[in-house]
Amino acid sequence: MFRSAAFFHRTCIVSVLVLAAASALCQTGAPVAKSASPELRVFDPSLIDKTVDPCQNFYRYSCNGWFKHNPLPADQASYGRFTELYELNRLHLKQILEQAAVPSPTRTANEQKIGDEYATCMDVAAVDKLGLKPLQPELDRIAALNSPAELPPLLAHLHDIGVDAFFGMGSNPDFADSSRVISFYGAGGLGLPDRDYYTRTDPKSVEQRQQYVDHVRKMFVLAGEPDAKAARDAETVLAIETRLAKASLTMTEQRDPQNLNHPTTVAGMEKMLTHFSLAEYVAAAHARAAGKVDDMEPKFFAEFNSLVADTPIDQIRTYLRWHLLHAYAGTSLPESFDHENWYFYAHILNGAEKEQDRWKRCTSRVDHELGEALGQVYVAKYFPPAEKQRTLEMTLAIEQAMGRDIDGLDWMSPATKAKAKEKLHAVMNKIGYPEKWRDYSKLKIVRGDDLGNAMRAQEFETARDLAKIGKPVDKNEWQMTPPTVNAYYDPQMNNVNFPAGYLQPPFFSGKEDDAANYGDMGSTIGHELTHGFDDEGRQFDKDGNLKDWWTKNDEQKFNERAECMVKQYDAIEAVPGVHLNGKLTLGENLADLGGLWLAWMAWQSKAEAAHIDMTAKMDGYTPDQRFWIAYAQQWCTQTRPEQLRTQAESDPHAPAEYRTNTVLQDLPAFAKSFSCKKTAAMVNPKPCRVW
Ligand SMILES: [Zn+2]
Repeated sequence: MFRSAAFFHRTCIVSVLVLAAASALCQTGAPVAKSASPELRVFDPSLIDKTVDPCQNFYRYSCNGWFKHNPLPADQASYGRFTELYELNRLHLKQILEQAAVPSPTRTANEQKIGDEYATCMDVAAVDKLGLKPLQPELDRIAALNSPAELPPLLAHLHDIGVDAFFGMGSNPDFADSSRVISFYGAGGLGLPDRDYYTRTDPKSVEQRQQYVDHVRKMFVLAGEPDAKAARDAETVLAIETRLAKASLTMTEQRDPQNLNHPTTVAGMEKMLTHFSLAEYVAAAHARAAGKVDDMEPKFFAEFNSLVADTPIDQIRTYLRWHLLHAYAGTSLPESFDHENWYFYAHILNGAEKEQDRWKRCTSRVDHELGEALGQVYVAKYFPPAEKQRTLEMTLAIEQAMGRDIDGLDWMSPATKAKAKEKLHAVMNKIGYPEKWRDYSKLKIVRGDDLGNAMRAQEFETARDLAKIGKPVDKNEWQMTPPTVNAYYDPQMNNVNFPAGYLQPPFFSGKEDDAANYGDMGSTIGHELTHGFDDEGRQFDKDGNLKDWWTKNDEQKFNERAECMVKQYDAIEAVPGVHLNGKLTLGENLADLGGLWLAWMAWQSKAEAAHIDMTAKMDGYTPDQRFWIAYAQQWCTQTRPEQLRTQAESDPHAPAEYRTNTVLQDLPAFAKSFSCKKTAAMVNPKPCRVW
């Protein structure tokens, strides 16, 4: 998998497990286009199943109609409202790309790039015909590695072209001073989705590891190795990766920024890296060597150091060869690699039954590599300025609700409240697309050179990322492309980001009323805002510095309340034998509950100010009822058991059903809107509440 430039994670509304962000990152059977329904609605009465009691299972009540009309497509590991819109967007992107792919003297420079990149990716016959030839210079470089002393420049080059071997280096705002960018060194180099895949001992995990070794073996065979050697090499890969995995932090540990905060310098890291010259690596990467750096995982780098010292050089070559093949298996290598890659990551790990069409993967690839060039055309065509204005108004209303919410908290002291409100007022709202578009003029896209395009795009991205080191932070930069169906909060920038691709039905509609829009997009805005105040986000101050602004007493009260949610989600068995991880999902669960509560507060005051008749029914439902149904209907999702298992084990988001029912069980206002009895399943007798 390509390494991601942004190191410290941002908190999204859904993860790439649910929504494949790009073919290169695609570890799930990504979304499929079905005939997109002609009109998607935010509140859709036709999806409601009146045979279900809303007080018993609100998710089923709100979504059964959708499930009936949307069976899980064969090339999907899961399919929900997010994928429904993602597919519609993909059709729009396809039209843009097909038009841009027609050579014409009137194409703009960006249109030439996106069009030629797409057309070249689509020409699978040409990719097949070339075989591994375009990759040969890279394979030769690895084959020429003779000693550990030669590793630093080789690794810098492999990282430059997006190969995730051993560790990663990238730019990120300094934890202590969020106004400036420094370099971050992080753990990496695994072929399985997470370090726990290497350490779990249950039968399913043991089987998955065997299947992984088999996958690596087959990839080596496809690359021309004899069977017996390929089998030995696959075992070597597992052994090296297991050592790296065991020395890496768990996903739960990574959620605490203090665990990743180890300021030092290149010279400081070199004191421990006795068998790997970091200075040489940095020089070869053309990165800034001076100044502060962050060693995110010292334990990992210590293990990497011993591994370099005690692993035979031919085994290191084997490991690097695997990661090179793995990085480009998606669409840039012959179909046999592509298919094997799909078979393990989408079928074995996540249960998809059919490969997705190539045009979908090529569309995702252009979005991944040239996202703001494609996004610029997309926004001009599909994102009217009025939508931006209405989203902004809703965001401001929800921020005001959060101010009132903080004022009313009975567990927080006035001192911490004042700081919390300072942070709230400093949040920057970014809606739709960047103010200044990324300049791709230095990236060369050549029609007919598929692998070359993919590599140059990675080199361009790495160079762009590393050039930021030592400079002031650019708060206008986006981590998601405009057509993305997702949203995120960035704790170090203290900003919320809503890409244009998301601000459409079934999540937001200029044609529908506030009850529906506040229940759906409003709850997402509240969700992202709450991330600034969840167990992780609350550790950053208004400027995005990792700095404690809480009194001890308030911190303790926050933790006690958060613990209620940890227990609540720990108790949920998502698939037989696999419970949700309450600590891993805590931030998202806090954001779901807090976000929906803020949207509800904002909607209530909006309705009051507009003198809306709260008893007047539309389609048979009161405005309040439509608010809750719109919330629930954004989560209608079908998921294969394999994917559900992967999600329960490694996704910081709870599965869709619990993002609906468990959240609503904690909100007495919901029970009131549907006159639920105190004993009903949808009522938690001791509701959790933080924000
Ligand atoms: Zn989130």
